[in-house]
Amino acid sequence: MVEVNERTLDWLDEAIDLGQSYQYMADHLGCCTDTLKRILHRHGLVEFEGAKYQSLTINPGPQWERPCMRCKSDEARPKYQYFCTPCTERNKRMASQSHEDWTMTAPT
Ligand SMILES: [Zn+2]
Repeated sequence: MVEVNERTLDWLDEAIDLGQSYQYMADHLGCCTDTLKRILHRHGLVEFEGAKYQSLTINPGPQWERPCMRCKSDEARPKYQYFCTPCTERNKRMASQSHEDWTMTAPT
């Protein structure tokens, strides 16, 4: 997670004015250019075309903080999703490796 404070935003604003590359700015922040672009977009410093960035502002719908049934993470996620996102991904991988659907036997 990149910390973005006013000083960072001022720096980015100036870097954009100077025509610095996104790679240069990303290096300064210590993140990848994709993260940098999201930061720039989120703070309105640069407008990007494309659904990839617009989708970040779409209301994701009802959320809940029910502990993940696997790792107990209580990070907010879409309601009725019983596993956190990393575990959901892991479940999908496991499901593709085995016919055993262990999610059916998980405690409720
Ligand atoms: Zn989890």
